[in-house]
Amino acid sequence: MNITAPQVAYPTSPLIRTALPGPRAREVLARDNAVTSPSLPRAYPFVPKRGRGCSVEDVDGNVFLDFNAGIAVNSTGHGHPKVVEAVQRQAAEILHYSASDFYLPIYSEMCGALAEVAPMSSPTRVFLSNSGAEAVEGALKLARYATKRPYVISFQGAFHGRTMGALTLTDSKAKYHKGFGPLVPAVLHAPYADPRRTASGERDTATVDYLRDSLFRYEVEPTEVAAIFVEPIQGEGGIIVPAPGWMEDLRALCDEFGILLVADEVQSGIGRTGKMWAIEHTSAEPDIVTSAKGLASGLPLGAFIAREEIMNAWGVGAHGSTYGGSPVPCAAGLATLEIIRSENLLENSTKLGADLLERLRKLQANQPDTVTDVRGVGLFIGVEFPDGQVANRVQNRCFEKGLLVLEAGENVVRMSPPLVLRADEAQTGLRLFSEAVSEIAAERL
Ligand code: PLP
Repeated sequence: MNITAPQVAYPTSPLIRTALPGPRAREVLARDNAVTSPSLPRAYPFVPKRGRGCSVEDVDGNVFLDFNAGIAVNSTGHGHPKVVEAVQRQAAEILHYSASDFYLPIYSEMCGALAEVAPMSSPTRVFLSNSGAEAVEGALKLARYATKRPYVISFQGAFHGRTMGALTLTDSKAKYHKGFGPLVPAVLHAPYADPRRTASGERDTATVDYLRDSLFRYEVEPTEVAAIFVEPIQGEGGIIVPAPGWMEDLRALCDEFGILLVADEVQSGIGRTGKMWAIEHTSAEPDIVTSAKGLASGLPLGAFIAREEIMNAWGVGAHGSTYGGSPVPCAAGLATLEIIRSENLLENSTKLGADLLERLRKLQANQPDTVTDVRGVGLFIGVEFPDGQVANRVQNRCFEKGLLVLEAGENVVRMSPPLVLRADEAQTGLRLFSEAVSEIAAERL
């Protein structure tokens, strides 16, 4: 049986037919409230049913313009025909065979495709996982194993995932750690790049100064540090873009002390910033890169890519995963990388991202009391508000208007639309966002 995706054509502008949440959505919310874990951090009552491109329809037939992409996941949009076809073809062939124990052809094909686009100039090897956290966890294990050093460093504001190692590296909200201690030992945190200094055009040396003059002096010998984990652009922390030179300084510090530089590109990678990896906007090369989210357009696939001599440090049985790199997610991942190439999605992300940023900066100029900063690279954009309450109200007002955006950090609304965004959709999204901001600004007077 050949099942094809239902043919749906959505209008460019959202279409909100019911009060939100609608009657069917309310039924789902009631069931969900009764049976799911209360730990899930739901943003607003959006109940998706199906989607195409940048449009997504809820269970009541309301059509939204998706500037979330399922938290930077649906990189090729919803239901890209090539992804759907690749998934169906692979599902009909074989659903699963553990690549940890046997030689699944599509696993090494996916690893090869990732090695080809890795942001390293020397050869790499790849391990496939099911999620971002699992990729980070694996990278953490590999860094300790390969260097035989216990300590790792990550940054304040960082988000690396929810499993114990990734959670310990995470340092964006105290509530993420609360109740779970003791966390993984020998993980230290340092201040991340400061966008205020970036804005004034100053070189941002505070991080490296802190590591050198404080952490390495009072807390840990640098020769005991296995790795520094860094998001080249902080995502959950509020779309924070380091000043030029910041990553290169970090790389130089790592080189000085034999520390591995691990770029966590789970959110910023796979074309989101207009390059395959956000770190490619700098001249620094990482030793290990983690990926997930946009990698397979919505199917659960993560990866860490390491320089060959690092990955070769561990031997048989040191690390594995029953489902990691399962065939159907790999098929979606290969299709995703092919679509990014053939549909010039890096160029699209660069161009539409620059247009959006320019227009959002005009909005900031018109609403300086409400919009306090606009930042980002490509289609990875953050709009900052005076406080979290205003950001939350803007996010919710956008939802009511049919535009899906998501808070990040303490007072930022994030835009991370699919990379297949069209210019008319970008314009519509911007119009709705501007309306929401103006309305909230007027209500605050
Ligand atoms: N690393 C970064 C930079 C992320 O943004 C996230 C998730 O938001 C993760 C890791 C964890 O990924 P996952 O939720 O797939 O475990």
